[in-house]
Amino acid sequence: MAFGWIDEQAAVRRRAGLVRTLRPRPAESPLLDLASNDYLGLARHPEITEGAAEAARRWGGGATGSRLVTGTTELHGELERELADFTGFEAALVFSSGYAANLAAVTALAPHGSLVVSDAGNHASLIDGCRLARGTTQVVAHADPEAVRKALGTHAGPAVAVSDTVFSVDGDAAPLAELAAACREYGAGLVVDDAHGLGVLGDGGRGAPYAAGLAGAPDVVVTVTLSKSLGSQGGAVLGPAHVIDHLVNAARTFIFDTGLAPAATGAALAALRLLRREPERAARAREVARELHTRLTASGHEAVRPDAAVVSVRAPSADQAVRWAADCRTAGLAVGCFRPPSVPDGISRLRLTARADLTEGQIDRAVGIIGDTRP
Ligand code: PMP
Repeated sequence: MAFGWIDEQAAVRRRAGLVRTLRPRPAESPLLDLASNDYLGLARHPEITEGAAEAARRWGGGATGSRLVTGTTELHGELERELADFTGFEAALVFSSGYAANLAAVTALAPHGSLVVSDAGNHASLIDGCRLARGTTQVVAHADPEAVRKALGTHAGPAVAVSDTVFSVDGDAAPLAELAAACREYGAGLVVDDAHGLGVLGDGGRGAPYAAGLAGAPDVVVTVTLSKSLGSQGGAVLGPAHVIDHLVNAARTFIFDTGLAPAATGAALAALRLLRREPERAARAREVARELHTRLTASGHEAVRPDAAVVSVRAPSADQAVRWAADCRTAGLAVGCFRPPSVPDGISRLRLTARADLTEGQIDRAVGIIGDTRP
């Protein structure tokens, strides 16, 4: 049978307790949410939903075409200018997702004969970018500028190092300034994915590269998502104008993809403007993360010290992680659950999102439920 092998794979997955299922989220969930990536609590903010609605009414339900044909509206241009200005980079280019932005940045900057040095903890979208790139990829130890230096030293010709700024599994940050210094020694570019840094790190949420003094650097390219702290959907690449022009001409996930929907563009623009007016939201997300970490470790949980808004709590096994997350849910708390194969080291975790809009009472409740349901 043509697809018989799929059933064999499914049986293996079932035996290992690793089957994934989709669960619709009710519009008005009774659960306390520490699972989403809505770091600043903006996804349902009236200014953001109105930004989406107004853009849809004016420009339509979809972008109607690729960016180079009919899919560019003036909203896209506004969002690109304001994103570049906010993060301190010369230019920006908006994509239909952060995933597409990462595929674009890595493939377009790693031509035939080039070297891509990729952190072992990188997000799947960066890994897929490496797989699609014409250059050769070398995976190096996690958050290790010396390993990057060593890899770059083996290669003559164009090279880039690629890293998340904040790693999505453990919420730890990359040593960006040191990575940039390593790249500069070898004349290599640095591509960093600030999906979890934008809106959370740096002055008023300007992002991890800004915090590391790399904003506007001629040899640094940043990718972001609009779907986490900005409460919308979509992605962007930020960098020097000539790099952005190159992406318009060479990045396949830009050229052959329909432009970002007007509603998502309008929502992201509204969120960015709100963040500029209310910069304290970024610091509050970091504060909530530190508080969650302090209180969980004080009650004996093993949690990674958070550099941004992701708090990772170790579970004894994949089975127990799944049961722990399910018990939290029954008790009224939604948490993320990371287990193999999503985690490269095989260590399962609960993943908590420290949202800027969590109240002290909600933090108490969350810590209480996590403690009460501990396996
Ligand atoms: N990079 C990282 C580090 C992410 O966590 C994610 C989202 N899971 C992405 C990229 C992809 O972004 P998007 O969801 O906008 O495609």
